[in-house]
Amino acid sequence: MNKIERSPLPSTVAQQPADTSSPLLRFLDELHRNYAGETGGALADYIPELSKANPDHFGISLVSIDGHTYEVGDTQVPFTIQSISKAFVFALALDLVGPEVVEGKIGVEPSGEAFNAIRLNAQNRPFNAMVNAGAIACSGIIHEAKGEEAFETIRQAMSRFAGRDLDVDEAVFQSERATGDRNRAIGYLLKSSSVIGTDVSAVLDVYFRQCSILVNAHDIAVMGATLGNRGVNPITGEQVVAPYAVARALSVMTSSGMYDYAGEWIYRVGLPAKSGVGGGIVATFPSQFGLGTFSPLLDSHGNSTRGIKVCETLSDHFNLHMLNRTSNIQSCLFADYDLSKSSSRRSRRPDEAEILAERSDKVRVLELFGALAFTEVDYVTRKLAEGPAPHFMIVDFRRTSGITGAATKLMMDAFKTLSGRGVTVIVTAVDRKAAAFAEFRAAMKDSTFVRSFPLLDEAIEWSEDQIVYRYGGAVDFSQTVPLGEQALLKELTPEELSLVSALGETRNFDNGAHIIAAGETSDSLYFLLRGLVSVKLPTGVRLATLTSGMVFGELALLEPRRSADVFADTPIVCHVIPLAALHQFCGGNPKIETKIMLNLSRLLSARLIRANKKVDLLSAN
Ligand code: GLN
Repeated sequence: MNKIERSPLPSTVAQQPADTSSPLLRFLDELHRNYAGETGGALADYIPELSKANPDHFGISLVSIDGHTYEVGDTQVPFTIQSISKAFVFALALDLVGPEVVEGKIGVEPSGEAFNAIRLNAQNRPFNAMVNAGAIACSGIIHEAKGEEAFETIRQAMSRFAGRDLDVDEAVFQSERATGDRNRAIGYLLKSSSVIGTDVSAVLDVYFRQCSILVNAHDIAVMGATLGNRGVNPITGEQVVAPYAVARALSVMTSSGMYDYAGEWIYRVGLPAKSGVGGGIVATFPSQFGLGTFSPLLDSHGNSTRGIKVCETLSDHFNLHMLNRTSNIQSCLFADYDLSKSSSRRSRRPDEAEILAERSDKVRVLELFGALAFTEVDYVTRKLAEGPAPHFMIVDFRRTSGITGAATKLMMDAFKTLSGRGVTVIVTAVDRKAAAFAEFRAAMKDSTFVRSFPLLDEAIEWSEDQIVYRYGGAVDFSQTVPLGEQALLKELTPEELSLVSALGETRNFDNGAHIIAAGETSDSLYFLLRGLVSVKLPTGVRLATLTSGMVFGELALLEPRRSADVFADTPIVCHVIPLAALHQFCGGNPKIETKIMLNLSRLLSARLIRANKKVDLLSAN
């Protein structure tokens, strides 16, 4: 669920501190109060309709890439998007016709000039897509591709960036169209340089209309967050444009988004941004949030004065300059262990357990964590190469949030090398739909040297089975194990054993049978003679899988109620001994009771030792 946290602060007037809940909202609220009184700057009036804006309007909205909204002040007041559209239409053009066409017509160098300068670069191309010349060229590209549908294509794309259907302010459109001779001059200059190949006035209409699209501060914050989320709108979940188009749009926003203030801006604020003469500023912190501010009073560059102050203070206070970063790459390795620290949940017969204990270093598990990018995975590849090669290398992704293309390349290369050294490489929990795994999934499809399991435990169990096979143990589920080999009945004499056996009866259960239900009264012990059962918590979590020769339901000797469910994983044969009969028998045979209880203690103690190792493994990181 996406939440909206709104400050109760009424618009336009400085207020008493508002009773707001989260630290970030409180901070935005304070910014709003501090700067609401700033009345420097002027309304844009070269488009007459814009001079009708209310200079007191002031809204701030921040949307995180997990879709949480914070908003203060006039965040619902509509204004025309103006030049902010340039960044999004540029991304759209890249997405629509590809970089060759776009880059052939529009440069990516900062111009250092005013947004409406009538000037092209030495190659007779606009300097970049963030100034009018480049933006008009960009609208021209869309017009060339889509003809009469050009504007509607743009409107729909912007709507997807914003996550709602956006309209046009017809009055502003008409007003700019009537007075837009400077842009017309630019348009014809572009035509004479063959940057625009179609009808200039039609292209200018597309451009004027795209500038007149109505948004509010919240909309542009969502649009900024979509850029910060590699093109996926964090509220609707829609991939609006391809990640490469987003990265290129953000690059040009970084160098040229704030016109002839761009250098100063990136130096001080350190975030890609775009402003518009309607009073909006959108700023993006890639991988974190989008910020939208609205206040129509503009400075001499055409940037919103209050908006600039909000961005500068926010960035300064929280150190948000994107070039002032570091990270602990090693935290991507959540755990690194072998079977001696943690095995699968399959309970093993003594002979299997022995084989596995002697070769515990043959199965190594690396559990990864978080967002895996280039350097994180480089670190993982260094770890993968460390130590003697195991037979099985399992890399678990269930706690990861994604893996980049670069990281995928490094990882696959490391897997290939391991596989060349005779290691079976297994990945777990990567068959997730998330776009953040798309490149990895594609690489997996092409690879012949990596196995994939949905669950880590399954992969460990499978690897253990392979080890058991390889070293002479047999994993034979159809084998019947006599009662005398049960660990719970160890050291009973043959006579004692037959007395105990006579207390119960042999029963068959079908595959899938629900043999024990959590919460029921514990009334019998089950000695598994043949087949496979799984012990599960009511949540569905598998605690153990048992094979022939093992006991289940034995906690009945201590606990009056069942704490877990038991299901048959194959057709099974059990010897079932009713608890009441066993108690009665033990009353007259204290020596046998002592033996059984001692055996139970040993079983529980072995289980406790295993559980302790897992606790150790989990708390070590
Ligand atoms: N539509 C406006 C123009 O072309 C956009 C300028 C801006 O927002 N800086 O003049």
